[in-house]
Amino acid sequence: MSGTHKVLLVTGGSRGIGAAICRLGSKAGYRVAVNYASNQDAAEALVAEIKAAGGEAFAVKGDVGSEADIVAMFGAVDRAYGRLDAFVNNAGIVDVKARVDEMDVSRLERMMRINVVGSFLCAREAVKRMSTRHGGEGGSIVNISSAAAVLGSPGEYVDYAASKGAIDTFTIGLAREVALEGIRVNAVRPGIIDTEIHASGGQPDRVERFRDLLPMKRAGTVDEVAGAVLYLLSDVASYTTGAILNVSGGR
Ligand code: NAP
Repeated sequence: MSGTHKVLLVTGGSRGIGAAICRLGSKAGYRVAVNYASNQDAAEALVAEIKAAGGEAFAVKGDVGSEADIVAMFGAVDRAYGRLDAFVNNAGIVDVKARVDEMDVSRLERMMRINVVGSFLCAREAVKRMSTRHGGEGGSIVNISSAAAVLGSPGEYVDYAASKGAIDTFTIGLAREVALEGIRVNAVRPGIIDTEIHASGGQPDRVERFRDLLPMKRAGTVDEVAGAVLYLLSDVASYTTGAILNVSGGR
């Protein structure tokens, strides 16, 4: 189905921060492509929720650690909606707590393949569709970084922190590269946000443990991150590109 309503694709859009971005994006009037890696039920439930609220959405499976999956995912959005106006590089992983002197090459390669290479390849596909240089109408990209990019996450996951440091630099470089092609590129750096990612890294109590160390003495919510992302995607932020917005409660 093609049409004039703007289209938003969110990687890892089925749960956590990505799902909040999809919900808020739909409320802002976007047709939403919800990417997920394996949990189809969660993705389909979100699509049903968006449709029940009067929005338009579809779920698209694809591992951002796979170039073939990424190309297929963008192809599916082309076929479903015929355009792409907004893209969020949200999918990202952490691994179990480890020191650098304990990390093996398979861990490091997986971390960088999903968090860094995947973000580059997805942005490549988005730019090919949005850039006026390629006949597109322009668009907006937001990368999800992390406060870890500046904190380094010692004793926990320096590999993850470094992957997000790469996302910060990528944001600045790509923003300048496509600034004359109708595309703005920005990043959001969430602090500790209450999602299932902490449990997936073997630390289900992480939000609770860090709470008293946070300036606001609380974790952030997914909606607080989504609001910042939707602002950066929107025309209200028309002179903002290459920006990295901390949404970390002062951490
Ligand atoms: P989450 O709750 O673990 O959700 C992960 C989402 O990403 C799910 O939709 C999952 O799909 C999808 N996903 C995982 N691996 C994927 C892959 N290889 N390809 C495509 N999709 C994949 O994560 P979150 O906490 O919302 O985190 C979202 C982003 O925010 C990440 O980039 C993370 O680094 C960043 N961030 C999070 C925090 C925090 O405290 N939560 C802080 C700073 C930054 P399935 O359901 O199919 O697995």
